[in-house]
Amino acid sequence: MSIEVKNLFKYYGDQAAVKDISFNVNKGEIVGFLGPNGAGKSTTMKVITGYIPASGGSVKVCGMPVSVDSLNTRQVIGYLPENNPLYLDMYVKEYLAFVAKIYKVKNVKERVAEMIHLVGLEVEQKKKIGALSKGYRQRVGLAQAIIHDPEVLILDEPTSGLDPNQLAEIRGLIKTIGKEKTVMLSTHIMQEVEAICDRIVIINKGEIVADDTAADLQLDELLQTVYVEFEGEVSKSHLKKIAAVSKLEQVGNGWLLESKEKEDLRKEISRFAQNNNLLILTLRKEEKSLEEVFKSLTNK
Ligand code: ADP
Repeated sequence: MSIEVKNLFKYYGDQAAVKDISFNVNKGEIVGFLGPNGAGKSTTMKVITGYIPASGGSVKVCGMPVSVDSLNTRQVIGYLPENNPLYLDMYVKEYLAFVAKIYKVKNVKERVAEMIHLVGLEVEQKKKIGALSKGYRQRVGLAQAIIHDPEVLILDEPTSGLDPNQLAEIRGLIKTIGKEKTVMLSTHIMQEVEAICDRIVIINKGEIVADDTAADLQLDELLQTVYVEFEGEVSKSHLKKIAAVSKLEQVGNGWLLESKEKEDLRKEISRFAQNNNLLILTLRKEEKSLEEVFKSLTNK
């Protein structure tokens, strides 16, 4: 297990920012940490990286308790904090060499060159960080996070404020890096987790409200909706005999059927058609977006 968070609490004064949350991130996974602003994402990430202490509970990274073993855990964690704070007056290479030295990286020059190549900073490598576009600054942020070859990467809103092209580039980069590492990234953008992540942990008002794969979340948390078109006329009362159906509506030549059951509604419809000698012309599951799942979970 790369990250183990158990019954974590964090208070700022009287205010509980994180309330009794638990989740694990397995080695090699890319997990999206999703939640509205103020939900507790940054706070949780700061505790995991050892930047702030927990008020209660425990966090282990690569089996080591962060609160006890902060120096060793920092060595296995790469962290891109929110808003990617960088030294704007430093040159790209100079800054990366500086970070590499802090982590006691051997062969600093080679490692910096390797990172510059990996994140695609060759063209900009001789510039001051302050002269870079936001997308390139984000590449510098990613390079500094992985320069010591950590097993775990914690990325706090890594794509916020990027234009669509930069966004696609940085997402691609995170996916590439994620092939080798365990990644936990926070975001409030739904498409981001759909595009990058294996699993999603959703936090709302300091509490975990979901922890699942994107596909299972969509299946579990919402009604299933299926569109079906039969050959010939089929009456509403007849269709109502499909036990799992909770709602039924005629749309064009077909029907929209909803179910709250776990079993795939398409199977039931197929069985119904077979038993009633009906021919199915169209049978399509209507996908609910993660956006809808998120809304339904965080508005509870
Ligand atoms: P998110 O990253 O999901 O936007 P945060 O972890 O930044 O959420 O914040 C969670 C809650 O804790 C918010 O209500 C925020 O105002 C509060 N908070 C965050 N940092 C501090 C701090 N340093 N002092 C006091 N309250 C804070």
